[in-house]
Amino acid sequence: MELIPFDDRDGFIWMDGTLIPWRDAKLHVLSHGLHYGSCVFEGERAYGGKIFKSREHTERFHASGELLGFTIPYSVEVLEAAKSEVLKANNIVDGYVRPVAWRGSEMMAISAQATTIHVAIASWAWPTMYKADIKEKGIRLTMAEFKRPSPEMAPVASKAAGLYMICTISKHKAEKAGFQDALMLDYRGYLAEATGANLFLVIDGEIHTPKADCFLDGITRRTIIALAKDHGITVHERHIKPEELVRVQEVFLTGTAAEITPVSEVDGQMFVVGDVTKTLMAAYSAAVRA
Ligand code: PMP
Repeated sequence: MELIPFDDRDGFIWMDGTLIPWRDAKLHVLSHGLHYGSCVFEGERAYGGKIFKSREHTERFHASGELLGFTIPYSVEVLEAAKSEVLKANNIVDGYVRPVAWRGSEMMAISAQATTIHVAIASWAWPTMYKADIKEKGIRLTMAEFKRPSPEMAPVASKAAGLYMICTISKHKAEKAGFQDALMLDYRGYLAEATGANLFLVIDGEIHTPKADCFLDGITRRTIIALAKDHGITVHERHIKPEELVRVQEVFLTGTAAEITPVSEVDGQMFVVGDVTKTLMAAYSAAVRA
């Protein structure tokens, strides 16, 4: 597979208030966001030219910054307009949108009170996270060694770059062992989520999903819970022990990028891509284009 590096593409990126040529959207190597992880981002998808739950993403983007102690210097309205501009400038009808905000270069130590907050928004085509054949059969997961930290240990509700350090390590380890992704427990040992998507289990036709009290309460997660209820499917949000997987029939992940991704296996334990998963996949594809 040929990789086209993300810093060497045609198109336009919105950076600090204006659209600039893609390859010019650079930051200095001495940027606080890079050295100290003072960086938050979003991941959104446009369907038919319209970003699904756009405003919720922008509001979470603002909230993520506040949780790291900084204020994103553009209003929700300005960012909403900027995202539309980026889609148009890059001719993206169906694609992914990536806003990112970071502390700049004025200070280069733990204390960074006087740093400027920078914002960029890019967009690119990204049909599905996994190839169709893999997605249809369901992906294979292995348990991660890292656990999601407690709210006393990290700003867990922020979509902060630093919280992804353990995700990338876990995902790489899983991929090297032939799996597609890793399933993370939380600090208490309850099932939490995958490295970039929330977890849903189906037990005897009812949905059980971990309570989002120490990881990102995904916008897709909330959408799926609402869609399930609309379809008369009972949803339980609760603490779930990994031992409970033995009585689970279906497993799927949800996220903006992952959409609904069925799971066929967790470390040798097998699941089917069953009716609940299929019903919600259809309902979600209809909802994002409604
Ligand atoms: N958890 C993590 C760690 C994620 O990166 C994502 C993707 N943003 C999600 C959950 C799902 O969130 P959403 O549905 O808002 O995309």
